Amino acid sequence: MMTLPYRGRIAPTPSGDLHLGHGRTFWTAFSRARAAGGTLILRMEDLDQARCRPEYATGAIADLRAIGIDWSEGPDVGGPDGPYTQSERGAWYQRVWQLLQATGTIYPSPHSRRDVAAALSAPHEPEGPAPDDEEPIFPPRLRPVTGTGVECTEPGQVNWRFRVPDGRRIEFVDLCQGATARVAGVDFGDFLVWRKDGFPSYELAVVADDHAMHITEVVRGADLLTSTARQILLYEALGWPTPAWYHCPLVLDERGQRLAKRHAALSLRSLLERGEGDKVWQA
Ligand code: GLU
Repeated sequence: MMTLPYRGRIAPTPSGDLHLGHGRTFWTAFSRARAAGGTLILRMEDLDQARCRPEYATGAIADLRAIGIDWSEGPDVGGPDGPYTQSERGAWYQRVWQLLQATGTIYPSPHSRRDVAAALSAPHEPEGPAPDDEEPIFPPRLRPVTGTGVECTEPGQVNWRFRVPDGRRIEFVDLCQGATARVAGVDFGDFLVWRKDGFPSYELAVVADDHAMHITEVVRGADLLTSTARQILLYEALGWPTPAWYHCPLVLDERGQRLAKRHAALSLRSLLERGEGDKVWQA
């Protein structure tokens, strides 16, 4: 089998300052690309327009460079697979939505969060959060019967969900965590691929971009392991090869909680200002 040249990526969401956890994960991605003699790409994941701001994107680039991470394709340096900022890639996401729609695996879902919450509190529905994220499982009885998908060429102003194969065990080998499995319909349910505000979901955009940018290995935090199972279903539906996976352990605070914006003292900027940038490399 032909081995493709290594292409990795780092994909910050510019909705706040990067912290120690991001630094460690991105450092790992950088180191693995360098060790493989490969290419590292920076992709700015700014689709959440309510939370993302250009100054955070500029700050992320400055902080990553300050801790010594270097990339050869990205919004600031260009490259053959650009644009490298998700808000500029809308036409490609629409195309991928069309490809999915043609497979019959996605359906328009008019249900609001309130409908979903109400259905979840009814008896006999699976409940409880998936192990590594907080999305409640979409109740199967709110999904349309197979075959009633509407014919349309544009997503329109409605949410679209991927119909998961209930009960199927999705197994993958994670190069850091080892053999990993999630069960569709138990660990996660029908997930959003398109939002009624006109934007793709995180899952669709990441798969669309990792494929278009020829990514061979995805390095990211272990809180995205369930997303990997969802993304594998998208790759399968689209008939695309999956990349290799490497999910890094999360950096936790002294109370065992994962780092978030409230840990301002552990932002990369503060660490660098205090001369403690080496904490990033001390895994
Ligand atoms: N942009 C995502 C985040 O900041 C990372 C997505 C990914 O690496 O797949 O959480």
